[in-house]
Order: sequence, then structure tokens, then C-alpha cells
Amino acid sequence: MIGPPSRQTDRETEIGLYIHVAFCRSICFYCDFNAYAGLSQLIPAYVDALVDEIGMLPPSLSDRWPLGLRFRIGSIYLGGGTPSLLTAEQIGRVLAAARQWPTADDPEVSLEANPEDLTGDYLQALRDLGVNRLSIGVQTFDDALLRRLGRRHGGAAAIRAVEQARRAGFDNINLDLMFALPGQSLADWRRALDQAVALQPEHLSLYNLTIEEGTPFHRWVMAGRLHPPDDDLAADMYRLAIDRLAAAGYAQYEISNWARCDHRRCFQSRHNLRYWRNQPYLGVGAGAHSAFGGYRYANVRAPAVYITRIRTRQSPVEGESIEYIDQRRAMAETMFLGLRLVEGIAVADFQARFDCRPTDVYGAELTELAAAGLLEVTDGRIRLTERGRFLGNEVFVRFVS
Ligand code: SF4
Repeated sequence: MIGPPSRQTDRETEIGLYIHVAFCRSICFYCDFNAYAGLSQLIPAYVDALVDEIGMLPPSLSDRWPLGLRFRIGSIYLGGGTPSLLTAEQIGRVLAAARQWPTADDPEVSLEANPEDLTGDYLQALRDLGVNRLSIGVQTFDDALLRRLGRRHGGAAAIRAVEQARRAGFDNINLDLMFALPGQSLADWRRALDQAVALQPEHLSLYNLTIEEGTPFHRWVMAGRLHPPDDDLAADMYRLAIDRLAAAGYAQYEISNWARCDHRRCFQSRHNLRYWRNQPYLGVGAGAHSAFGGYRYANVRAPAVYITRIRTRQSPVEGESIEYIDQRRAMAETMFLGLRLVEGIAVADFQARFDCRPTDVYGAELTELAAAGLLEVTDGRIRLTERGRFLGNEVFVRFVS
């Protein structure tokens, strides 16, 4: 067992900086993110708070915080919510605050955007500010399905957004798509994939719709008014995506993510790879999570409370969220996060980090899962089999308990 981190250290840790923009024009019917509609009047004060919070990083976790931890920023990710609701000037202020900290050469700077916000001038301004990766929330190109999801844009707006982004010089574009939508057939999903591939994005994230408690979709499913596709159809859709994207030259590198990758350039998300490799990150903004200095913690969720905390120089961290990550927990997280990656976990890396091999700690679990055909140990790596990727949750839960 390791103890809490020492209180003085001059180690410099490379982190990903996540910046949460908690505002949306309206709330999609399936959404359970920390996002709010009707609060756009708070945006200027929220941006001020983001700038101040970034300037004060890392936050004080009272007497638990190890003093003197230094970091440099390896990637920046503006997520939400809808970051593209911010003006270019506001985004510029936030990025300038981040760049006051030591920053890696050529950091990845990603911004999530909704298609309807991406005008030519706005995209050009984002490029000029150093945003070099755009993640567009497309979900599907079918207008009827988009309406059913409560999305504000149509399929044509998504196509236009990608074309405009290319014209502005973006050469690293991700499209978010969702499948297993209520009323979506396998043929609908095939059309969505074909349309996405025709736009030639560098990266694709494909999410199986999950019905989350507290959302309108959950209420409608409970009331029998909404019928998502059954698990077999969802699995067929996932299978179709794997085959279709492989044929189009995309390499799957995570359960839900595909990228173009060749000897010249690999478009895997550098920021998100940090999460799956269980590496440190700092999050700013309402509800943003951090994993740093041996702790996990989250900021208060409500934007108005977050703004007040920052204005009054109080820590934005929700006290109850602070968790010390002991060695046992860190090993479990490294396993179930790393197994999401197609490359899996390098036994040597695990050993270098924890001074023991995965088989020393999880021998029984690994043997059982391998016997069930869900994972394999080859070439010094532990990874899911293809069957395991379909049944990932059954594997991950073995490391959580
Ligand atoms: S745009 Fe994204 S964050 Fe906003 S409500 Fe829709 S799904 Fe949620």
C-alpha cells in the first residue's frame, strides 16, 4: 500500500485540461450531462470564473492536498454542454488563461460543437485561436430521428458544418454518432454510417444510446411510450459499424472510437487516451472532474454556485466528491479503463507503475475471463477479444468489485 502523496514535491506531471461549458440552447431528450438550458445570461460571468479557476490551478483540497505539485498541459478539451455557444472572444480568453501554464509543444486543442453554430467566420476564428481538433455532435443525419432525440439541427446542417470546417482549414475532425435510437432500423444506421464515411472525418465516435434515469427518454420508456431497439439489434448495429468502418480504412482503437492512422499521422484523441490510460487530468467549470495528485474530485455542478464560489475565492470543489485513490483502486481503474482500448494494457507498464503484475492481483479474474473467450493475453498485453468488446461491461465489473 502506498500512503497519501507527500506534501512537498517538485515533480512536473503532464495533464489533460478539461474545460466544461455547462450551457445548451435546449436539453436533448436523452441527455444526462451537466448541461443547462435557459441560463445563457450567466455565460459572461461563467467565462470570467473559468479564467480565474484556471489561474488558480490546482485547487486547494484543504489539508489533504499535496503542496507543490507542478504540471504542464499536454492537451486541452473544451466539452459540455455546448462550448460552441461561447463567442470566439470568450474561447480566446479561456485558452489564453490555459496557456499561462507550461504547455507541451503542439498540444491537442479540441472543441465540441453543435452543427448549427459552425459558420465560416466562427470556424476561422477558432482556427486562429489554436483550436486544432473539432468534435461535431452529429448523432445522425436523419431529420425525423434528430427531432425524436430533441436535437435542434437537421442532417443537412451537419454536412454543411463539416464542409465549412474543411474550408476553414480543420484537418482533424471527429463526428459523434449515436445508434440504437428509438425507431432506428439497421438500414437507417447503415445510411448514417455511409453518410459519415462520405464526409471523410479523421475520427468517429459511435455511442450506443443508453436510457439514463431522470431524462425524458427514461420517463417515456417507463410509460411505454418509447421503445428503444432490443439488445440484439443494437449488437447488429455495432457489428455493422465495425465492418463498415474497417472497410473504409478506419482503425478501431477503443470500444466506441475509430481513427485514421498511418505512418504519417495518427488521429486518435490524445486527450481521451489520457482517461483510458488512467493518467492525470484537471477539470475546470461546473461539475468538471479531476484526477490529480492521487485524488479524484469534482466541482460543484450548478453554474451559479460555481460562479459564486470562484468570485468569493472559495474552492469550487464539492467536498464530498474528494476521494483518495489508493494503490488497489488505481490498479482496478487501470485495468477496466485500459481494457476499453483495443491495444489493451501492457503488462510491463502495469508492473512499472504498481510494482506487481496484473496476474499477481487479478489472476483468478483473468483466467476466468480468458476461459470465457472475453479477453486474451498475448505479446505482453492483456486485451479484450472481439467478443469481449461486445460484452465489455461484463468484463469491467470484475475489476470494480
Ligand atoms: S447538446 Fe449535448 S450536452 Fe447539450 S443537451 Fe444535447 S446532448 Fe446534452
